[in-house]
Amino acid sequence: MTQTKRIAVIPGDGIGVDVTREATAAISAAATKHNILLDLDELPYGSEYYLRTGIGLPREERLRIGRDYDGILLGAVGDPRVPDNRTAREIVLGLRFDLDLYINLRPILLIADGLTSLKGKSVQDIQFVIFRENTEGSYGGIGGQQHAGTTSEIALGQIVATWRGTHRIIRAAFEYAEKHKLTRVCVVHKQNAIPHVYGLWLRVFRQVAQDYPNVEASEMLVDRAAMEIIRAPEQFQVIVTSNLFGDILSDLAAMIAGGLGLAASANINPETLVLCEPVHGSAPDIAGKGIANPLAACLSAALLMDNLGFPEAAVTIDNAVRAAIFSGCVTPDLGGTKTTRQVGAFVAETISK
Ligand code: ATP
Repeated sequence: MTQTKRIAVIPGDGIGVDVTREATAAISAAATKHNILLDLDELPYGSEYYLRTGIGLPREERLRIGRDYDGILLGAVGDPRVPDNRTAREIVLGLRFDLDLYINLRPILLIADGLTSLKGKSVQDIQFVIFRENTEGSYGGIGGQQHAGTTSEIALGQIVATWRGTHRIIRAAFEYAEKHKLTRVCVVHKQNAIPHVYGLWLRVFRQVAQDYPNVEASEMLVDRAAMEIIRAPEQFQVIVTSNLFGDILSDLAAMIAGGLGLAASANINPETLVLCEPVHGSAPDIAGKGIANPLAACLSAALLMDNLGFPEAAVTIDNAVRAAIFSGCVTPDLGGTKTTRQVGAFVAETISK
């Protein structure tokens, strides 16, 4: 038995609620199987809660969550009725920034040949991870407008890159490569058009790479990377890039590995805490219909277990997800006829066997 790990579960909005129910069942089953003590604490934050109470997720509460929990399992946040995307900003971006979760890890791992949209590519061709910087770049909200709402309007938005922020995400990417016996790390940048920011990225990348002589370090412009991920994904093992480029490339890459219904992510600060969430949003178009694919959330639960130091439990959840796919127990987005609950039940039962 290990020390109890405290997990905050925030289902959030739309299909976040549907898929988190199944991911919670999967993680509980895996904990029981591997004798792991988990204390799962469901928190009500999300757009419904905001519309009812006027409370999104205040900074003090974000900091309390950071102090009181070892990990967070998040569903999805976003609701067309909430102006300015306030709940998503306070919950998703607020937790990333306030808890300094600087690594956004997005595995792009094709599970079955039939799931890729790329002609001629198979499982062994699509096996890489994206390290997206998660606390700087274009997402800090630094900027402003003048003459707003007129034809003279000026809008300015700043890109932030610090040596420390760039160094720690690049270091994390190389460490991951070494730990997983991978031999290639590629930095994706736009130094030709944005020289100050990506000049810093390239200098830090070249410096850090010197500490990893067994890892081949390469550099690629972001426009080229968008093309190469589609043309020859087999060349990539670890990609490290900025917040904006990582956001875009990881959605693109998710589509060649089975789509949003299978894309998981982890937001990590190795010294403090990890927040795992499916890449997809709240998908209001299918919320409550019982057809949301819960496997991205279950794979996020596996990432949570892995990052909490329980790799065997993570493998157990991963294998159950694979079993669901290989036995055709999948939702309509993957060509199946099963409901969210049926897929979730299959995964939980497979874990418990
Ligand atoms: P966001 O909340 O990020 O603004 P969104 O909620 O509008 O975005 P996403 O959830 O990211 O959109 O996904 C786009 C579309 O993909 C959805 O409208 C839905 O039809 C489909 N989709 C996303 N996730 C899933 C899923 N888990 N299962 C089935 N379909 C999905």
